[in-house]
Amino acid sequence: MKTGQNHLFIPGPTNVPERVRQAMNVPMQDMRAPDFGDLTLPLFEGLKKVFKTESRVFMYPGSGTGAWESAIQNTLNVGDKILISRFGMFSHLWVDMAERLGLDVHCIDVEWGKGVPVDEYRKVLEADKSHQIKGVFVTQNETATGVTSNVAAVREAMDAVGHPALLYMDGVSSIASIDFRMDEWGVDLAVAGSQKGFMLPAGLSMLGVSEKALEANKSGGMERCYFSFNDMLKLNDNGYFPYTPPTQLFHGLRESLRLIEEEGLENIFARHHRLAEGVRRAVAAWNGCRLCATGPEWHSDTVSAILAPEGVDAKDVIKIGYDKYRISYGAGLDRLAGKVFRIGHLGDLNEGMVMAALGISEMALNEAGAKVELGSGVAAAQDWFLNGDSAAVSLAAQ
Ligand SMILES: *Cc1c(COP(=O)(O)O)cnc(C)c1O
Repeated sequence: MKTGQNHLFIPGPTNVPERVRQAMNVPMQDMRAPDFGDLTLPLFEGLKKVFKTESRVFMYPGSGTGAWESAIQNTLNVGDKILISRFGMFSHLWVDMAERLGLDVHCIDVEWGKGVPVDEYRKVLEADKSHQIKGVFVTQNETATGVTSNVAAVREAMDAVGHPALLYMDGVSSIASIDFRMDEWGVDLAVAGSQKGFMLPAGLSMLGVSEKALEANKSGGMERCYFSFNDMLKLNDNGYFPYTPPTQLFHGLRESLRLIEEEGLENIFARHHRLAEGVRRAVAAWNGCRLCATGPEWHSDTVSAILAPEGVDAKDVIKIGYDKYRISYGAGLDRLAGKVFRIGHLGDLNEGMVMAALGISEMALNEAGAKVELGSGVAAAQDWFLNGDSAAVSLAAQ
Protein backbone atom coordinates (compact mmCIF):
# COMPACT_ATOMS: atom_id res chain seq x y z
CA MET A 1 0.00 0.00 0.00
CA LYS A 2 1.27 3.43 -0.87
CA THR A 3 0.55 6.16 1.62
CA GLY A 4 1.33 9.86 1.57
CA GLN A 5 2.16 11.79 -1.53
CA ASN A 6 4.40 11.48 -4.52
CA HIS A 7 7.33 13.83 -4.72
CA LEU A 8 7.48 15.23 -8.22
CA PHE A 9 10.96 16.51 -8.98
CA ILE A 10 11.10 16.12 -12.71
CA PRO A 11 11.57 19.51 -14.39
CA GLY A 12 8.13 19.25 -15.98
CA PRO A 13 5.30 18.68 -15.64
CA THR A 14 5.71 20.47 -12.34
CA ASN A 15 3.36 20.52 -9.36
CA VAL A 16 0.03 22.16 -10.10
CA PRO A 17 -1.05 24.36 -7.17
CA GLU A 18 -4.36 23.44 -5.58
CA ARG A 19 -5.89 26.79 -6.56
CA VAL A 20 -5.03 26.13 -10.20
CA ARG A 21 -6.37 22.58 -10.09
CA GLN A 22 -9.65 23.75 -8.60
CA ALA A 23 -9.92 26.58 -11.12
CA MET A 24 -9.91 24.04 -13.95
CA ASN A 25 -12.81 22.10 -12.49
CA VAL A 26 -15.51 23.96 -14.42
CA PRO A 27 -18.13 22.87 -16.94
CA MET A 28 -17.31 22.88 -20.66
CA GLN A 29 -18.22 26.10 -22.33
CA ASP A 30 -19.02 27.59 -25.71
CA MET A 31 -15.85 28.82 -27.35
CA ARG A 32 -17.86 30.88 -29.84
CA ALA A 33 -20.02 32.56 -27.17
CA PRO A 34 -20.21 36.35 -27.37
CA ASP A 35 -18.54 36.71 -23.96
CA PHE A 36 -15.73 34.16 -24.52
CA GLY A 37 -13.26 37.02 -24.78
CA ASP A 38 -13.92 37.87 -21.13
CA LEU A 39 -11.97 34.72 -20.30
CA THR A 40 -9.30 34.85 -23.01
CA LEU A 41 -8.40 38.50 -23.59
CA PRO A 42 -6.98 39.04 -20.07
CA LEU A 43 -4.86 35.90 -20.58
CA PHE A 44 -3.09 37.47 -23.55
CA GLU A 45 -2.44 40.59 -21.46
CA GLY A 46 -1.22 38.52 -18.52
CA LEU A 47 1.16 36.54 -20.70
CA LYS A 48 2.56 39.75 -22.18
CA LYS A 49 3.42 40.89 -18.65
CA VAL A 50 5.20 37.62 -17.89
CA PHE A 51 7.10 37.71 -21.20
CA LYS A 52 7.74 41.44 -20.67
CA THR A 53 6.62 42.35 -24.15
CA GLU A 54 4.33 44.96 -25.63
CA SER A 55 3.95 42.90 -28.78
CA ARG A 56 2.02 39.63 -28.83
CA VAL A 57 1.87 36.14 -27.34
CA PHE A 58 0.10 33.32 -29.18
CA MET A 59 -1.36 30.28 -27.44
CA TYR A 60 -1.64 26.97 -29.27
CA PRO A 61 -3.14 23.75 -28.00
CA GLY A 62 0.09 21.78 -27.96
CA SER A 63 3.27 21.23 -25.99
CA GLY A 64 6.31 23.50 -26.09
CA THR A 65 7.62 21.73 -29.16
CA GLY A 66 4.63 23.03 -31.10
CA ALA A 67 5.64 26.62 -30.47
CA TRP A 68 9.16 25.79 -31.74
CA GLU A 69 7.60 24.61 -34.97
CA SER A 70 5.32 27.61 -35.21
CA ALA A 71 8.21 30.02 -34.67
CA ILE A 72 10.20 28.48 -37.51
CA GLN A 73 7.39 27.91 -40.00
CA ASN A 74 5.94 31.40 -39.83
CA THR A 75 9.16 33.35 -40.11
CA LEU A 76 11.73 31.31 -42.06
CA ASN A 77 11.81 29.85 -45.55
CA VAL A 78 13.08 26.43 -46.57
CA GLY A 79 16.82 26.77 -47.24
CA ASP A 80 17.30 29.77 -44.94
CA LYS A 81 20.50 29.73 -42.95
CA ILE A 82 20.35 29.76 -39.15
CA LEU A 83 22.95 29.86 -36.37
CA ILE A 84 22.33 27.57 -33.41
CA SER A 85 24.31 25.78 -30.70
CA ARG A 86 23.89 22.38 -29.12
CA PHE A 87 24.84 21.41 -25.59
CA GLY A 88 22.13 19.03 -24.39
CA MET A 89 19.08 17.06 -25.41
CA PHE A 90 16.74 20.03 -25.84
CA SER A 91 19.08 22.21 -27.86
CA HIS A 92 19.79 19.05 -29.89
CA LEU A 93 16.10 18.48 -30.60
CA TRP A 94 15.74 22.04 -31.82
CA VAL A 95 18.66 21.51 -34.23
CA ASP A 96 16.98 18.31 -35.37
CA MET A 97 13.69 20.09 -36.03
CA ALA A 98 15.38 22.91 -37.93
CA GLU A 99 17.11 20.35 -40.15
CA ARG A 100 13.93 18.38 -40.73
CA LEU A 101 12.06 21.54 -41.69
CA GLY A 102 14.67 22.18 -44.36
CA LEU A 103 16.75 24.98 -42.87
CA ASP A 104 20.45 25.35 -43.62
CA VAL A 105 21.72 24.80 -40.08
CA HIS A 106 25.04 26.18 -38.86
CA CYS A 107 25.34 24.36 -35.54
CA ILE A 108 28.11 24.99 -33.03
CA ASP A 109 28.58 21.96 -30.79
CA VAL A 110 29.50 22.86 -27.25
CA GLU A 111 30.59 20.64 -24.36
CA TRP A 112 27.52 19.47 -22.42
CA GLY A 113 27.67 21.46 -19.18
CA LYS A 114 28.25 24.79 -20.88
CA GLY A 115 25.79 26.97 -22.81
CA VAL A 116 25.47 29.34 -25.74
CA PRO A 117 28.98 30.35 -26.94
CA VAL A 118 28.40 34.09 -27.29
CA ASP A 119 31.90 34.96 -28.55
CA GLU A 120 31.68 32.35 -31.28
CA TYR A 121 28.22 33.57 -32.25
CA ARG A 122 29.64 37.04 -32.56
CA LYS A 123 32.49 35.89 -34.81
CA VAL A 124 30.17 33.93 -37.10
CA LEU A 125 27.74 36.85 -37.33
CA GLU A 126 30.51 39.34 -37.97
CA ALA A 127 31.84 37.19 -40.82
CA ASP A 128 28.37 36.98 -42.36
CA LYS A 129 28.67 40.30 -44.21
CA SER A 130 25.91 39.55 -46.69
CA HIS A 131 23.51 38.60 -43.89
CA GLN A 132 22.78 35.10 -45.12
CA ILE A 133 21.93 34.06 -41.56
CA LYS A 134 18.23 34.73 -41.01
CA GLY A 135 17.82 33.33 -37.51
CA VAL A 136 19.95 33.10 -34.37
CA PHE A 137 18.75 30.38 -31.96
CA VAL A 138 19.36 30.07 -28.24
CA THR A 139 18.10 27.69 -25.59
CA GLN A 140 17.92 29.90 -22.51
CA ASN A 141 17.78 26.98 -20.11
CA GLU A 142 19.05 23.58 -21.23
CA THR A 143 16.93 21.30 -19.10
CA ALA A 144 19.03 18.20 -19.77
CA THR A 145 22.19 19.62 -18.22
CA GLY A 146 20.88 22.35 -15.91
CA VAL A 147 22.60 25.14 -17.81
CA THR A 148 21.34 28.70 -18.26
CA SER A 149 22.75 30.89 -21.02
CA ASN A 150 23.07 34.64 -21.27
CA VAL A 151 20.48 35.69 -23.84
CA ALA A 152 20.97 39.42 -23.30
CA ALA A 153 24.63 38.93 -24.25
CA VAL A 154 23.59 37.26 -27.51
CA ARG A 155 21.46 40.29 -28.35
CA GLU A 156 24.41 42.57 -27.50
CA ALA A 157 26.67 40.56 -29.80
CA MET A 158 24.14 40.77 -32.64
CA ASP A 159 23.77 44.51 -32.18
CA ALA A 160 27.52 45.04 -31.87
CA VAL A 161 28.07 43.64 -35.36
CA GLY A 162 24.82 45.10 -36.72
CA HIS A 163 23.33 41.75 -37.66
CA PRO A 164 19.63 41.87 -38.60
CA ALA A 165 18.72 38.17 -38.05
CA LEU A 166 15.74 37.29 -35.90
CA LEU A 167 16.53 36.02 -32.39
CA TYR A 168 14.74 32.78 -31.40
CA MET A 169 14.69 31.65 -27.79
CA ASP A 170 13.56 28.41 -26.21
CA GLY A 171 12.26 29.45 -22.80
CA VAL A 172 10.21 26.35 -22.02
CA SER A 173 11.98 25.66 -18.72
CA SER A 174 12.82 29.27 -17.89
CA ILE A 175 9.99 31.69 -18.69
CA ALA A 176 8.03 32.62 -15.54
CA SER A 177 10.79 31.09 -13.38
CA ILE A 178 13.96 33.05 -14.08
CA ASP A 179 14.76 36.48 -15.49
CA PHE A 180 13.48 36.98 -19.01
CA ARG A 181 12.79 40.29 -20.78
CA MET A 182 11.55 39.76 -24.28
CA ASP A 183 11.47 43.36 -25.49
CA GLU A 184 14.50 44.61 -23.60
CA TRP A 185 16.64 41.72 -24.86
CA GLY A 186 15.25 42.00 -28.36
CA VAL A 187 14.03 38.42 -28.48
CA ASP A 188 11.87 38.00 -31.58
CA LEU A 189 10.38 34.57 -30.94
CA ALA A 190 10.12 33.23 -27.38
CA VAL A 191 8.83 29.71 -26.77
CA ALA A 192 7.16 28.52 -23.56
CA GLY A 193 5.01 25.61 -22.43
CA SER A 194 2.30 25.40 -19.79
CA GLN A 195 3.71 22.51 -17.74
CA LYS A 196 6.86 24.08 -16.32
CA GLY A 197 7.08 27.58 -14.84
CA PHE A 198 3.38 28.20 -15.47
CA MET A 199 2.45 25.35 -13.09
CA LEU A 200 -0.21 23.91 -15.37
CA PRO A 201 -0.79 20.55 -17.01
CA ALA A 202 0.87 20.12 -20.41
CA GLY A 203 -1.22 21.13 -23.40
CA LEU A 204 -0.71 24.82 -24.01
CA SER A 205 2.26 26.13 -25.92
CA MET A 206 2.93 29.82 -25.85
CA LEU A 207 4.89 31.87 -28.33
CA GLY A 208 5.97 35.47 -27.85
CA VAL A 209 6.31 37.20 -31.22
CA SER A 210 7.94 40.60 -31.79
CA GLU A 211 6.77 43.21 -34.31
CA LYS A 212 9.80 42.34 -36.42
CA ALA A 213 8.83 38.66 -36.42
CA LEU A 214 5.27 39.58 -37.42
CA GLU A 215 6.74 41.49 -40.37
CA ALA A 216 8.81 38.45 -41.36
CA ASN A 217 5.62 36.40 -41.27
CA LYS A 218 3.96 38.80 -43.71
CA SER A 219 6.65 38.48 -46.34
CA GLY A 220 7.70 34.85 -45.95
CA GLY A 221 7.58 31.63 -44.04
CA MET A 222 7.11 28.00 -44.95
CA GLU A 223 3.96 26.08 -45.77
CA ARG A 224 1.95 26.10 -42.56
CA CYS A 225 -1.60 25.52 -41.53
CA TYR A 226 -2.29 24.55 -37.92
CA PHE A 227 0.37 26.94 -36.61
CA SER A 228 -0.32 29.81 -39.01
CA PHE A 229 0.11 33.23 -37.37
CA ASN A 230 -2.37 34.69 -39.86
CA ASP A 231 -5.18 32.39 -38.80
CA MET A 232 -4.57 33.34 -35.17
CA LEU A 233 -4.26 37.04 -35.95
CA LYS A 234 -7.67 37.09 -37.60
CA LEU A 235 -9.39 35.92 -34.42
CA ASN A 236 -7.20 36.50 -31.36
CA ASP A 237 -7.89 40.20 -30.97
CA ASN A 238 -11.50 39.39 -30.21
CA GLY A 239 -10.54 36.51 -27.95
CA TYR A 240 -11.27 33.67 -30.38
CA PHE A 241 -9.24 30.89 -31.97
CA PRO A 242 -9.21 29.21 -35.38
CA TYR A 243 -9.89 25.81 -33.76
CA THR A 244 -11.14 24.49 -30.45
CA PRO A 245 -9.01 25.95 -27.69
CA PRO A 246 -8.39 24.11 -24.38
CA THR A 247 -10.81 26.04 -22.18
CA GLN A 248 -9.93 24.10 -19.00
CA LEU A 249 -6.32 25.14 -19.41
CA PHE A 250 -7.41 28.74 -19.91
CA HIS A 251 -9.15 28.65 -16.54
CA GLY A 252 -6.01 27.16 -15.04
CA LEU A 253 -3.84 29.78 -16.72
CA ARG A 254 -6.03 32.56 -15.39
CA GLU A 255 -5.39 31.30 -11.88
CA SER A 256 -1.70 30.67 -12.41
CA LEU A 257 -1.29 34.21 -13.78
CA ARG A 258 -3.01 35.45 -10.62
CA LEU A 259 -0.58 33.47 -8.47
CA ILE A 260 2.35 34.87 -10.45
CA GLU A 261 1.01 38.39 -10.06
CA GLU A 262 0.39 37.95 -6.32
CA GLU A 263 3.90 36.66 -5.65
CA GLY A 264 5.52 39.04 -8.15
CA LEU A 265 7.89 37.98 -10.90
CA GLU A 266 10.99 39.33 -9.19
CA ASN A 267 10.09 37.45 -5.98
CA ILE A 268 9.53 34.31 -8.03
CA PHE A 269 12.98 34.64 -9.57
CA ALA A 270 14.50 35.19 -6.10
CA ARG A 271 12.70 32.13 -4.71
CA HIS A 272 13.91 29.97 -7.57
CA HIS A 273 17.44 31.16 -6.94
CA ARG A 274 17.19 30.48 -3.20
CA LEU A 275 15.82 26.97 -3.69
CA ALA A 276 18.29 26.14 -6.46
CA GLU A 277 21.16 27.34 -4.33
CA GLY A 278 20.05 25.00 -1.54
CA VAL A 279 20.23 22.09 -3.97
CA ARG A 280 23.62 23.20 -5.29
CA ARG A 281 25.06 23.46 -1.80
CA ALA A 282 23.80 19.99 -1.01
CA VAL A 283 25.41 18.61 -4.17
CA ALA A 284 28.68 20.31 -3.30
CA ALA A 285 28.58 18.61 0.09
CA TRP A 286 27.85 15.14 -1.32
CA ASN A 287 31.03 13.15 -1.57
CA GLY A 288 31.75 12.30 -5.20
CA CYS A 289 28.79 14.17 -6.71
CA ARG A 290 28.95 17.29 -8.81
CA LEU A 291 26.81 19.34 -11.10
CA CYS A 292 26.85 18.77 -14.81
CA ALA A 293 27.02 22.57 -15.27
CA THR A 294 30.73 23.31 -15.37
CA GLY A 295 30.70 26.60 -13.48
CA PRO A 296 28.57 29.13 -11.61
CA GLU A 297 28.06 31.21 -14.76
CA TRP A 298 26.02 28.30 -16.15
CA HIS A 299 24.06 27.34 -13.03
CA SER A 300 20.36 26.93 -13.69
CA ASP A 301 17.88 28.07 -11.07
CA THR A 302 15.18 25.74 -12.43
CA VAL A 303 16.91 22.36 -12.70
CA SER A 304 20.11 20.74 -11.43
CA ALA A 305 21.63 17.83 -13.33
CA ILE A 306 23.72 15.91 -10.80
CA LEU A 307 26.54 13.60 -11.82
CA ALA A 308 26.51 10.49 -9.64
CA PRO A 309 29.84 9.43 -8.13
CA GLU A 310 32.19 7.32 -10.22
CA GLY A 311 30.97 3.71 -10.36
CA VAL A 312 27.42 4.56 -9.33
CA ASP A 313 24.68 4.12 -11.92
CA ALA A 314 22.42 7.18 -11.77
CA LYS A 315 19.61 4.99 -13.14
CA ASP A 316 19.73 3.04 -9.87
CA VAL A 317 19.39 6.25 -7.87
CA ILE A 318 16.33 7.15 -9.92
CA LYS A 319 14.79 3.69 -9.66
CA ILE A 320 15.37 3.32 -5.92
CA GLY A 321 13.99 6.83 -5.39
CA TYR A 322 10.87 6.00 -7.36
CA ASP A 323 10.20 2.49 -6.06
CA LYS A 324 11.06 2.99 -2.44
CA TYR A 325 10.60 6.67 -1.65
CA ARG A 326 8.07 7.74 -4.23
CA ILE A 327 10.14 10.52 -5.69
CA SER A 328 10.44 11.20 -9.40
CA TYR A 329 13.74 12.60 -10.62
CA GLY A 330 14.53 13.66 -14.14
CA ALA A 331 16.59 11.00 -15.92
CA GLY A 332 19.91 11.49 -17.67
CA LEU A 333 19.13 12.05 -21.33
CA ASP A 334 21.10 10.68 -24.26
CA ARG A 335 24.82 10.64 -23.46
CA LEU A 336 24.05 11.48 -19.83
CA ALA A 337 21.93 8.34 -19.32
CA GLY A 338 23.16 6.49 -16.23
CA LYS A 339 25.45 9.37 -15.37
CA VAL A 340 23.07 12.00 -14.02
CA PHE A 341 19.85 12.34 -12.15
CA ARG A 342 18.08 15.67 -12.29
CA ILE A 343 16.25 17.56 -9.60
CA GLY A 344 13.75 19.98 -11.08
CA HIS A 345 13.26 22.92 -8.74
CA LEU A 346 10.79 25.13 -10.52
CA GLY A 347 7.19 26.13 -10.20
CA ASP A 348 5.10 25.62 -7.08
CA LEU A 349 7.90 24.72 -4.68
CA ASN A 350 9.22 25.66 -1.25
CA GLU A 351 12.10 24.93 1.12
CA GLY A 352 10.36 22.02 2.83
CA MET A 353 9.80 20.25 -0.46
CA VAL A 354 13.42 20.76 -1.44
CA MET A 355 14.56 19.39 1.92
CA ALA A 356 12.49 16.25 1.33
CA ALA A 357 14.09 15.76 -2.08
CA LEU A 358 17.58 16.21 -0.66
CA GLY A 359 16.97 13.85 2.26
CA ILE A 360 15.60 11.16 -0.04
CA SER A 361 18.46 11.69 -2.47
CA GLU A 362 21.00 10.90 0.23
CA MET A 363 19.24 7.62 1.01
CA ALA A 364 18.83 6.67 -2.65
CA LEU A 365 22.45 7.55 -3.45
CA ASN A 366 23.71 5.36 -0.63
CA GLU A 367 21.47 2.47 -1.57
CA ALA A 368 22.78 2.76 -5.12
CA GLY A 369 26.31 2.36 -3.78
CA ALA A 370 27.49 5.93 -3.27
CA LYS A 371 29.34 6.84 -0.07
CA VAL A 372 27.47 10.04 0.65
CA GLU A 373 27.48 11.01 4.30
CA LEU A 374 23.90 11.04 5.56
CA GLY A 375 22.79 14.54 6.38
CA SER A 376 25.73 16.23 4.67
CA GLY A 377 23.76 17.82 1.84
CA VAL A 378 20.72 18.31 4.01
CA ALA A 379 22.82 20.25 6.53
CA ALA A 380 24.39 22.40 3.83
CA ALA A 381 20.98 23.29 2.45
CA GLN A 382 19.58 23.97 5.91
CA ASP A 383 22.52 26.24 6.62
CA TRP A 384 21.88 28.13 3.38
CA PHE A 385 18.14 28.44 3.97
CA LEU A 386 18.75 29.61 7.55
CA ASN A 387 21.79 31.81 7.11
CA GLY A 388 21.85 32.78 3.44
CA ASP A 389 25.07 34.23 2.16
CA SER A 390 26.82 33.75 5.49
CA ALA A 391 26.22 29.99 5.39
CA ALA A 392 29.31 27.98 6.32
CA VAL A 393 29.41 25.83 3.20
CA SER A 394 30.28 28.17 0.42
CA LEU A 395 30.27 26.92 -3.13
CA ALA A 396 33.38 28.90 -3.92
CA ALA A 397 35.29 26.93 -1.28
CA GLN A 398 34.48 23.58 -2.87
C1 LIG B 1 10.44 20.60 -21.77
C2 LIG B 1 11.27 21.33 -22.77
C3 LIG B 1 10.98 21.32 -24.14
C4 LIG B 1 9.91 20.44 -24.73
O1 LIG B 1 8.69 20.88 -24.39
P1 LIG B 1 7.41 19.94 -24.63
O2 LIG B 1 6.39 20.71 -23.89
O3 LIG B 1 7.72 18.61 -24.01
O4 LIG B 1 7.17 19.86 -26.07
C5 LIG B 1 11.74 22.09 -24.98
N1 LIG B 1 12.76 22.82 -24.53
C6 LIG B 1 13.10 22.84 -23.24
C7 LIG B 1 14.25 23.68 -22.80
C8 LIG B 1 12.37 22.09 -22.32
O5 LIG B 1 12.72 22.11 -21.02
